[in-house]
Order: sequence, then structure tokens, then C-alpha cells
Amino acid sequence: MTTTDRYAVFGSPIKHSKSPRIHRLFAEQTGQALSYEAQEVTAEAFPATVKGFFEAGGKGLNCTVPLKELAYRFATHKTERAQRSKAVNTLVLQTDGAILGDNTDGCGLVTDLLHNHRLTLTGKNVLILGAGGASRGIIGPILGQSPTRLVVANRTTDKAVLLAEEFKSIGDISGCGFEELGRLQFDLILNATAASLSGQLPPLPDRLLASQASCYDLAYGNEPTAFVRWGFAHGARLSLDGLGMLVEQAAEAFFIWRGVRPQTRPVIELLDGERKKA
Ligand code: NDP
Repeated sequence: MTTTDRYAVFGSPIKHSKSPRIHRLFAEQTGQALSYEAQEVTAEAFPATVKGFFEAGGKGLNCTVPLKELAYRFATHKTERAQRSKAVNTLVLQTDGAILGDNTDGCGLVTDLLHNHRLTLTGKNVLILGAGGASRGIIGPILGQSPTRLVVANRTTDKAVLLAEEFKSIGDISGCGFEELGRLQFDLILNATAASLSGQLPPLPDRLLASQASCYDLAYGNEPTAFVRWGFAHGARLSLDGLGMLVEQAAEAFFIWRGVRPQTRPVIELLDGERKKA
């Protein structure tokens, strides 16, 4: 008899989440019997709701804004990359009843950059804008690619400085405010601020991009984000948004849960095609 295992994404707001669609496409593609729903869960409701989900037989969860730090605290065991980022986007019920917390965001981003867009981080100067939860998740995997230098710039300077401090044992990383970017130039700029969500842009100097540089906004939408447009306007070779990262981080979670790696390219192409028609 085939049983259907239950998965879900918790977050707030969650109505427009593409995760249920992505995981159902992965399940169809790989012949896995599972259900995956999106559930509106606030930070206040999280501890009771997540406990109830697993007690009722749920097998795994994704957690998004504003729950990743709470999910980190909820997990009884954590992977190394989750420990490093202090944020969890994937929870997995273990056979002994323990809950393992992982963070697939950074791995999803790096896979999208390297495999889908053929970019290289090794030996490059990389800038991350923002020092929130998403930055925490991506710094470790980016440093793992041995860039020459990684700078984290944030509106609240102290947060960038403290975040860089946490990771300095694994690579050349520093933190600063936007105004300190001055005359620096970068081969890749990653926008991990929430500014795009309200159509805004961090204050960036005009000559921030080195020759042949690329821009990548972790945010995504049906239209190019303000940062993607900024990249094109300032001569970026590529200026991309985070749809590929979204699908790749989901594929990594799916692999952790099911032991099967789905093909991401057809899913990215499908979702990209749909938004172009929207
Ligand atoms: P957080 O709320 O944890 O952090 C937000 C960050 O954005 C902070 O550094 C904040 O600065 C900065 N910020 C907010 N508004 C502005 C502004 N107007 N100008 C400049 N800086 C601003 O959010 P997350 O880190 O969780 O998410 C960041 C982005 O990454 C979101 O767009 C999210 O959708 C995207 N994301 C995409 C994923 C994907 O799979 N594609 C996965 C995860 C995240 P300060 O510290 O000064 O407040």
C-alpha cells in the first residue's frame, strides 16, 4: 500500500509562496507520494503549530520569514551549515523521533550561480548587501568557494560588522555600511536585503561593478526587481533574480527528505515561462 507523507511550508505571509507548486512538481517528476501545503504561521503560533504538525505524523517542514531562527531553536539536532548560519529553513523528522534542522538557502544559491549560470566565485571579489537571515544562510557556502574577498554591507553597519566577525575563521570577510563602499569594485554583488520587496534599492555608488561583473537579487517577482534593473543600468554582464535559488534550495530540501534529487532545470523554466506570461 502506498502512503502519502506530509510536508509543509510555514511562514507569514505565505499566501504567494511558490514552494507547494515546486515540491508537487518535484514529487510528480520523481514519482514520490507526498503532500505539501503552505500554512500561515506567525512567530507566536510557531512552537505549538510545529509541535502539532510532527505529532500528527508530518515528516518535514520548510520554514520561511519570520520563522528561520525559531526553527533553529526548535530543532533538536542541527547540521553544520545550520549551526554556522544559526537559521533553519528545513526540518526533518528522524526515525528516532528527533528533529533535524538544516539550512539549504546557501547551497541553493551557490548551485544556481555555479551550475545554472556558469558563474565562478573562486578568486573573485564578492559583495553581499544586507545582514539579515538570508545573508547568514549564504555566507558560509560562498566562503566555501574561496572568493578573494567577501564584503557584507548593511544599512545598520554594526550588524554587518558583527556578522562578518562570526565567519572570519573560514575566510576573508569584512563588514561595513553602504557609505563605506566608496571606491571598491566587485565581480559579483548579491542583494540579500529586503529592499526589493518594497521596490526600493540600497544606496549604492555608481562605479561598484568591476568589468564583466554580475548582479544577483535573492528576491524575485514577475517583473525584474529594482536591483536587477540597477545591475543592467550599471553595465552588469548578468543581472539575475532569486527564482533559481528558490528552486535549488527546495530541491536540496526534497533530497534531504526523500533521498531523491529532482531535476531543477525544467521546474525553473516552467516557473520562469509562467511569470513572463503573467
Ligand atoms: P531579514 O528581514 O532577515 O533582513 C533584511 C535585511 O534587509 C536587513 O539587512 C535590513 O537592514 C535590510 N533592509 C531592509 N529594507 C531595506 C532598505 N529599504 N534598504 C536597505 N536595506 C534594507 O530578511 P531575509 O534576510 O530573510 O531576506 C532578505 C531577502 O532575501 C528577501 O528579499 C527575501 O525574499 C530573499 N530571500 C530569497 C530566497 C530565495 O530562495 N530566493 C531565500 C531567502 C531569502 P537592517 O539590518 O538595517 O534592518
